[in-house]
Amino acid sequence: MSALKPVRGTHDILPGDMHRHRHVEQTAREVARRYGYAEVSTPIFEFTDVFARTLGDTSDIVTKEMYTFEDKGGDSLTLRPEYTAGIARAFISNGLAQELPLKVFCRGPMFRYERPQKGRLRQFHQVDVELLGVAEPLGDVEVMALGADFLAALGVADKVTLELNTLGDAESRAAYRAKLVEYLEGHIDGLSEESRLRLRRNPLRILDSKDEGDRAIVAGAPLMSESLNAASRNYFDELGAGLDAAAVAYRINPRLVRGLDYYCHAAFEFTTEALGAQGTVLAGGRYDGLIAQMGGPPTPGTGWAAGVERLAMLIEEPPPPPRPIAIVPIGEAMGERAIAVAQRLRGAGFVADLGYSGNVGKRLKRANKIGARAAVLLGEDELARDAATVRDLDTGDQVEVPLSDLVEHLARYQKP
Ligand code: ATP
Ligand code: MG
Repeated sequence: MSALKPVRGTHDILPGDMHRHRHVEQTAREVARRYGYAEVSTPIFEFTDVFARTLGDTSDIVTKEMYTFEDKGGDSLTLRPEYTAGIARAFISNGLAQELPLKVFCRGPMFRYERPQKGRLRQFHQVDVELLGVAEPLGDVEVMALGADFLAALGVADKVTLELNTLGDAESRAAYRAKLVEYLEGHIDGLSEESRLRLRRNPLRILDSKDEGDRAIVAGAPLMSESLNAASRNYFDELGAGLDAAAVAYRINPRLVRGLDYYCHAAFEFTTEALGAQGTVLAGGRYDGLIAQMGGPPTPGTGWAAGVERLAMLIEEPPPPPRPIAIVPIGEAMGERAIAVAQRLRGAGFVADLGYSGNVGKRLKRANKIGARAAVLLGEDELARDAATVRDLDTGDQVEVPLSDLVEHLARYQKP
């Protein structure tokens, strides 16, 4: 352990990265707003049961990735590895059953103990949308259209593909499970140890295995689509028709499953080839059984989460923030006037930077270093005339401007 290094798999987000990060979050928030999703936030930690009892005790998250600890009161708590279970818990604790359909957007840090690599961190961030109370495929269409619009607004639409599958309803899944187990038992010698364990407890998870031997076997496995009952098939057909109507392009991937137990019907991922092995940028699906399983009133749900760090790597540099206006006092006596002018400009909506010390040369150097667009030079002579000198730092041109006109004059450099 070194107290001077961040914990493995965590990182500091400095201004350059934060600019991208915020752009991703802000774009998601704005697109979600247009769909009528209200922003909420739930605690970063929950009772361990919130996750352990819902995500499935064979999921990667529950078996090896949770940050679980006992607090001083003896409760077992877990830093949230994902948002959905916390939202479901909040829905129940706040008695929101009368508020359906409930449409929420949330964002924040998530924690998973995994092997850190590019695009895979131990503290990372997600933006997330959840739609509760809509059992119709139209609900899935809406959240997927929201996801597609979000990625388009980030300028990455042509780098991602929406992959879609159905996991069917419980009856279809049971029928499929039986067929799958029969097939996998015939290949048991080739399966990884982990998958052999999953075979009895949750064979569907084997379809999601990252082990190469498993993948070769899975390639020949029967498909879910062959086990769908009429209701599940109908559901999936309607979903496809809805996506067509919304002009959301997708590709059916019959091998796509999601790693968590609570999914049914729609499962989807937006993936890219541009990020190497960590190619899934946004993923989600339908979770009709989750809230009832947690002890709440049976309530259908659908939604997705997207990895902010992965998207921040994928986007072009977002538009830069406005360049500051530097306030430069000439001579020590002008220091307090400079404070007053800077405050006035900030009050009017400008980004004003007040150098802290040094002569005019040093302050102008700093103005250049921070990329200031213009400098307001405050000298005794001009001030005696209630004026200041405004220098365009790109052209070097300068003019004397009455203080009363300063705000109006500077608007050419920075719209307040
Ligand atoms: P994977 O198969 O890559 O482990 P997952 O199924 O565990 O993904 P989800 O739980 O669906 O991922 O999370 C939704 C999104 O959050 C992912 O598509 C990804 O963009 C992002 N994400 C998940 N885990 C991490 C992580 N450890 N570091 C960074 N981003 C992550
Ligand atoms: Mg994972």
